[in-house]
Amino acid sequence: MAAAAIRRALAERSYMPEVTFTTGSALQKSALRQANDRLVLNVIRQNPSVSRADLVRITGMAPSSVTFIVKRLKREKLVYDDKPETRQPVGRRPTGLHLRAEARIALAIEIGPSGGRIITADLNGAPLVRKVVPWHPNHDVFFDRIHSAIRSLLHPLARGQVLGAGVALPGTIDRNSGRVIAAENLGWFGLDADALIRRNLDIPFYFENAAKLSALAEMWFPENHASPLQDFVSVIAGGGIGTGVIVNGQLLQGALSAGGEFGHISIDPDGRRCPCGNIGCWEQYASDRALARAYAEESGEPAAVDDPAQDIVAKARAGEPAALRALQTAARYIGMGFVNLVMALNPQAIIVGDYLAQGWDLMEETVWSILRSRVPPYALSALRISPSRHGAEVSLMGAVALVLTRFFNSFNHSVQAKPGSSVVMHRGL
Ligand SMILES: [Zn+2]
Repeated sequence: MAAAAIRRALAERSYMPEVTFTTGSALQKSALRQANDRLVLNVIRQNPSVSRADLVRITGMAPSSVTFIVKRLKREKLVYDDKPETRQPVGRRPTGLHLRAEARIALAIEIGPSGGRIITADLNGAPLVRKVVPWHPNHDVFFDRIHSAIRSLLHPLARGQVLGAGVALPGTIDRNSGRVIAAENLGWFGLDADALIRRNLDIPFYFENAAKLSALAEMWFPENHASPLQDFVSVIAGGGIGTGVIVNGQLLQGALSAGGEFGHISIDPDGRRCPCGNIGCWEQYASDRALARAYAEESGEPAAVDDPAQDIVAKARAGEPAALRALQTAARYIGMGFVNLVMALNPQAIIVGDYLAQGWDLMEETVWSILRSRVPPYALSALRISPSRHGAEVSLMGAVALVLTRFFNSFNHSVQAKPGSSVVMHRGL
């Protein structure tokens, strides 16, 4: 194992809190066994080709425990050795362990104003099959379409192979019940998405706001296996402005899971009225829709109907003056919003998606000049702003991550933790 990989693995231990629980009942013992299995599995996932000796070092478990757990994981066909385990001559390099990524499948569904997108992905989050579901204004018809698309994806898969489905929705979501409290852009209020989507499907469903999931995607699938960012904001701009905020490695939720909505912070007290009830919300000036409105004002004609923001970025790239001016107007408002983000959260990174990612090279100079003119230099010294590597699929990948966190961090979701033990866990949501 390379020195850099060991350093990274040991750094990852620093965000695994030490936890314990009472082990009196058989149920809790089996939960402990599962938690330890998943912990080892997660370290193998994060460090492909890790040796058993390094697993001992990273997890802090006894060598005999690691040997036992690895045997169990191999029996369950969740891991494999990079060389077949035969009698080892003296001095031979130890074998490395790999996750058998296709052993389990996560389903992810994203629902937005233009319809639904569904993917299956393996344990590494690599997408396998994609489906697009057209929008329908009648939610019963729309969910019929979603449901049958899910059924057709599940059909060829073995029972027990599918870990569950993550569902990304815009607006305020009761993530425990799967109820859409308010999704203004879809016209849904108090809609029981769980009942509409689940019906007789025998897999777990997990619901979350799409912007929050975009942040989870960036944390769960870090760039080049780097250590995940601990303090950052993910900004998406499809149908509004959504922000997912990670503070100290945790997703900011708030009392009712409706926190971190920077898109609805007012930047103009006498500005445009927003469907949320506030006036002059940031998203009224910086979203994809605001960009389309700015372009219509500049050019005297509307942008393409399908994906206006993408169309405007393409026109700006081709040098069309009205598109360039509209993009600069949006960039100024993006910069103003980022001033608020930086002053409120002091993030190490802001990661942008949707049209902001597509057109970032055309906008970044304007955004940075606004930040530099309004924010003290010390607050910007550690900041980087970059487009998301996941492009338009960032929330969908977050929905994959939502399922994978439940699998790899089973401890967090299955047993009651008490402080003070030797079991180390990777924190999830
Ligand atoms: Zn608003």
